[in-house]
Amino acid sequence: MDFQIDPSFEPIRQMLGWLGKSKLRPLGIEADRQGGPLPPDHPFFKEVLSMGMTGGFVGKLKDNKVPRDDDGRPRRTSRRAVVLAEEAAYWDRGMATSLPGPSLGGAPVMLTGTDAQKEHYLGMFKDKTTPRWGAFAMSEPGAGSDVARIRTRAKRDGDSYVLSGEKCFISNGARASWAVVWATIDPALGRSGHRAFLVDQGTPGFTVACIEKKMGLAASETASLVFDGCRVPESALLGGEEAYAGKGGFKSAMKAFDMTRPLVAAMGVGMGRAAYDETLRVARERFTGPSSWRLSRVQDRLVRVRRKLEMGRMLAWKAAWLADHKRPNAVEAGMAKAYCAQLGLEAASLGLEVLGESGGASDYLVEKIFRDVKALDIVEGTQQIQRVVIARRLIGYTEDRGRSTGASEASTSNGSGAKDSSNGSADTAEDSSTHTPAGATHV
Ligand SMILES: Cc1cc2nc3c(=O)[nH]c(=O)nc-3n(C[C@H](O)[C@H](O)[C@H](O)COP(=O)(O)OP(=O)(O)OC[C@H]3O[C@@H](n4cnc5c(N)ncnc54)[C@H](O)[C@@H]3O)c2cc1C
Repeated sequence: MDFQIDPSFEPIRQMLGWLGKSKLRPLGIEADRQGGPLPPDHPFFKEVLSMGMTGGFVGKLKDNKVPRDDDGRPRRTSRRAVVLAEEAAYWDRGMATSLPGPSLGGAPVMLTGTDAQKEHYLGMFKDKTTPRWGAFAMSEPGAGSDVARIRTRAKRDGDSYVLSGEKCFISNGARASWAVVWATIDPALGRSGHRAFLVDQGTPGFTVACIEKKMGLAASETASLVFDGCRVPESALLGGEEAYAGKGGFKSAMKAFDMTRPLVAAMGVGMGRAAYDETLRVARERFTGPSSWRLSRVQDRLVRVRRKLEMGRMLAWKAAWLADHKRPNAVEAGMAKAYCAQLGLEAASLGLEVLGESGGASDYLVEKIFRDVKALDIVEGTQQIQRVVIARRLIGYTEDRGRSTGASEASTSNGSGAKDSSNGSADTAEDSSTHTPAGATHV
């Protein structure tokens, strides 16, 4: 057992600490005040690229090629990503999600893409002069948790596919050079009908409908996308047709989540830690002299949150360790995600309570963290969905049994579909040559 952060991650973690303090947090506050993300041509994005930071998994890009993962050796990709995700989210989770890179689109391309797709769609992030983004477009107005319900259609037409449908809440969706777009070739086929396409920005029929206004995470762009007769070549099918044998499309989406949920968990720890530190800082400053009794009254609750933050970090690290060792991690990733996202909210909520009247004032960081952190519980499967995933694995509750006992859609809902992601995390990535502080967080 080794509870230390790998010493090789330290230099980049320290650089991220510097960047977080000097840029991520102040720019996140600026975005929050102006109510929207920094424009894609903001100088910060070029600056951060020149430092070698990337948002999302890109794999090791040697000579513009993503090497195959066939030597069976453990990786450190996921462990490094959770450490950096925690650090980045500590400073500002919205800014961390907005860093140039493939975002959540990186994991499915790396896991399922053909060599040519990896080289093109991940290789473009090797260019450290032009900020670029990728996106992952799964959610639809009628299909969030229950991804089996997606209705965006992909119709075969000669050697092309024609996509029609709507996607919502897509992180970096308006600025992305490309998006992994999930569609169905036939809703009657359920999950077996799922296909993912790499769709370039600017493809006729692909438009951005709007950028959402959110209660928090203003620095992170969240867009609604429309596909209206959007024609893409056969080669845009992620991984080629053979990747979709059985429920291959659905499984690959779930594998991507096994890879990214530990990162979201680490972000919950990072944001919770930020709320805790800020609460303590303000409380120490304000509760002096005659009001010093106030700190002693809340010390027990602060200690409890601190202890939970340690526990949450261990859950995230374990899920990442399993991914790096190519072992199934769906249960651990789900546990970490459910626990830590909720924990971030608990820490921020405690901060508001402890600081009393000042806690809710917008010039205190805790108030912003409270608004920002709620989304962590929603993205990449809510806590309820994580529990469905875990129950399926631990108790053997399955979709079919649920149906036969008259259970509602709870049994089919997924965003998680653990039943199908039997391989756990198949992290096929080499250690990343670029740094992934935001990991592949999307959703
Ligand atoms: C900031 C942000 C960024 C996002 N980025 C992306 C992105 O990049 N790409 C993308 O594809 N999506 C993205 N999303 C969408 C996100 O994945 C969905 O919002 C999420 O999956 C939940 O879906 P929903 O909002 O439709 O809620 P619903 O699925 O309608 O759920 C509503 C409520 O019902 C509960 N519920 C649903 N099913 C069950 C069940 N079986 N058992 C128990 N409870 C259940 C849920 O837990 C939830 O509390 C983003 C969302 C946010 C907020």
